Amino acid sequence: MVKIGSLFMGGDHPVVVQTMTKTDTRDVGSTVKQIHELEGRGCELVRLAVKDREAAQALRAIKREVSIPLVADIHFDARLALAAIESGADKIRLNPSNIKDPAMIREVARTAKAAGVPIRVGANLGSMDPALSRAERARALAEEALAEARLLEEEDFQDIVVSVKSSDVREMVEAVHLVAEASNYPLHLGVTEAGPLQQSLVKSSAGIGALLLDGIGDTIRYSISDSPTLEVDAAWMLLAAMDLRRRGPQIVSCPTCGRCEVPDMLSLVTQLEARLNEIAKPVMVALMGCVVNGIGEGKNADVGIACGRDQGVLFVRGQPVRHIQPAAFIDTLIAEANKL
Ligand code: SF4
Repeated sequence: MVKIGSLFMGGDHPVVVQTMTKTDTRDVGSTVKQIHELEGRGCELVRLAVKDREAAQALRAIKREVSIPLVADIHFDARLALAAIESGADKIRLNPSNIKDPAMIREVARTAKAAGVPIRVGANLGSMDPALSRAERARALAEEALAEARLLEEEDFQDIVVSVKSSDVREMVEAVHLVAEASNYPLHLGVTEAGPLQQSLVKSSAGIGALLLDGIGDTIRYSISDSPTLEVDAAWMLLAAMDLRRRGPQIVSCPTCGRCEVPDMLSLVTQLEARLNEIAKPVMVALMGCVVNGIGEGKNADVGIACGRDQGVLFVRGQPVRHIQPAAFIDTLIAEANKL
């Protein structure tokens, strides 16, 4: 287990939702604005690229304006890790093998330990020989990540989070299993460079989901070539889908079929989705396309409407309550969900 600012990660603590800002960290105003958006969506930990000293120093001003812990993402230059810690970073992402001078590794470990700042180490596909088989690459990824952790252990530093990432889902899953078998460090899960929205949702959910089902993983990050708020939304949806954590409402809607009694089912679901922010509770709200099957198929929802041509049936946990006119479907669902 590690402590990142006021946040605990690992052990029996809930899986942490995190993402990375896509702004230039030196642009404090834009970065703070983006972090506020992410906080509003339920992001619990945010990583920022620290590519130079100005970015490391900007962390201090950013930290004053936000309430979630900040992770400084650093490549190669250990002096930036020291500067980020001095600016108040709550966690560092850095591979000690990238620091060529052993004295600097020692200094980073000593400074992070004194400040109570954990370090995430890891390996990703980019460093693997493409001629290796998938199983060999998974093993090599795991060994490389564990070797990074050992470099810090040699400096008497154990406040470590480990990640092994690949854009190949099976390779990433196999590699994380190997690390989980060999160590007790909290594990960061993600499918790296997973692509645009739809592709990433499929790949990330398959990889991260498979591991979470096995009880592996302490923090998750969706990597999407799109807004980071979508990464946070996707992470929460996955945790809710696995019954691990819930935040806000969830929609249960049928795919529709030839029995669907309303011509504009897709538009109704879109309208409901757009108004979900009016529901503060973690409830399941169903919108089903027909009365004959909709109540039964939506019975796991807390509240729902099975749509009919002239009127729908409002149901609560599978039990019919009353008839509703089509024009009132969405307003009724929002009101009933808030009443629960
Ligand atoms: S609820 Fe009705 S319309 Fe929707 S998929 Fe089931 S049978 Fe088809």
